[in-house]
Amino acid sequence: MSEAASSVVVQKYGGSSVSTAEKIRTIAKKICDRARSGHRVVVTVSAMGDSTDELIALANDVTGPRTSPSLREMDTLLSTGELVSSTLMAMAIHSLDQDAVSLSGQQAGIRTNAIHGSARIASIDTARILRELDSGRVVIVAGFQGLDETGDVTTLGRGASDTTAVALAAALSAERCEIYTDVDGIYTTDPRIVPGARKLQEIGYEEMLEMASLGAKMNPRSIELAAVYGVPVLVASTFDDVPGTLIHGGEPTMELRRAVTGIAIDRNVVKIIVRGVEDRPGVAAGILQPLADAGISVDVIVQNTSDDGTTDFTFTVGEADGQRALDLVKRQQDVAFRDATDGGELAKVSIVGTGMQNGPGYAATMFSALAGAGVNIDMITTSEIRITCIVSREDVTAAASALHDAFELDRAE
Ligand code: ASP
Ligand code: MG
Repeated sequence: MSEAASSVVVQKYGGSSVSTAEKIRTIAKKICDRARSGHRVVVTVSAMGDSTDELIALANDVTGPRTSPSLREMDTLLSTGELVSSTLMAMAIHSLDQDAVSLSGQQAGIRTNAIHGSARIASIDTARILRELDSGRVVIVAGFQGLDETGDVTTLGRGASDTTAVALAAALSAERCEIYTDVDGIYTTDPRIVPGARKLQEIGYEEMLEMASLGAKMNPRSIELAAVYGVPVLVASTFDDVPGTLIHGGEPTMELRRAVTGIAIDRNVVKIIVRGVEDRPGVAAGILQPLADAGISVDVIVQNTSDDGTTDFTFTVGEADGQRALDLVKRQQDVAFRDATDGGELAKVSIVGTGMQNGPGYAATMFSALAGAGVNIDMITTSEIRITCIVSREDVTAAASALHDAFELDRAE
């Protein structure tokens, strides 16, 4: 067998890519071409279009407003969305005279824990998939689902077909995992905000994680998995035949040598200010523990040095959690403070790049670029490979453009 013939490629097609019969037929052709060029092809699909949302709405309709659907039944219901798209894809491939088989998560050997609605993959028994590949078939695996120890169907969480794809690629030691979607790659920043944004040929896992959790399109959990198992991931357009972006952990080549790789933007930030907080051990834990218990993640945290034995404690949460977070702070009994207020709607603008680790001056460049654009910085936080400024929402475009220019991200290297 030639090397190409033995190597496995895992492809994933998202919901918008398989939303109609015509699109499924177009993709089936693409898959056949790949299989006929000598690759062993495993494909994961999401449910067609918005069908997962439609199933959730149906479930809520039958239970009515006063009860919520059983999580176990919900998982089996939602898993059918991916069964529809995977079986249709297999049929479309058959019509092109290529052997193919669809497998549910269970049939594909995907075992998970028992957390319905957000199950984690525990293991993948690849025996069945390998058998099918050996007999010359393309294997289509229903995304986003598995089976728990008791034999019940589980789903992996919204948007988790990416996770299925990367997990399959890891288990099959695939050459790479290809995520086909309605964007054609990862950009230096959001092209809708900065028209000069440029598509990256490649990006490192860590950088991609920062970009993904801050708004670039890709499920962060799947990137984490790819990083752990060293699976190269290509993000590319389903229907436009243009080069995508390769996410990998290899030796930095050209673009990864840049200090700053991209500008991440997140508009959904609100700030909560707790003033006149008593200054003693346990205060931060006292304020934030109830939020953690409620599943609210707190992002930027700033505590001032103490003044007259009291301090101000400010933090940000996602917009959707803002009101709940404020209520929880006000209701907690452990920590005395003067008042807690909603500090308003803000945004996060970050420069991201592994190259920043060993060079000084990036923060200074960032701050002076923002100053030059007349953007006021509300809060600042850093990690090894990221510097984040919280700014007002109206300033996002000016801030991102100024930073894109200052770090010359529009320039191909
Ligand atoms: N169909 C599932 C969802 O809509 C999984 C996915 O699309 O990745 O969340
Ligand atoms: Mg979907």
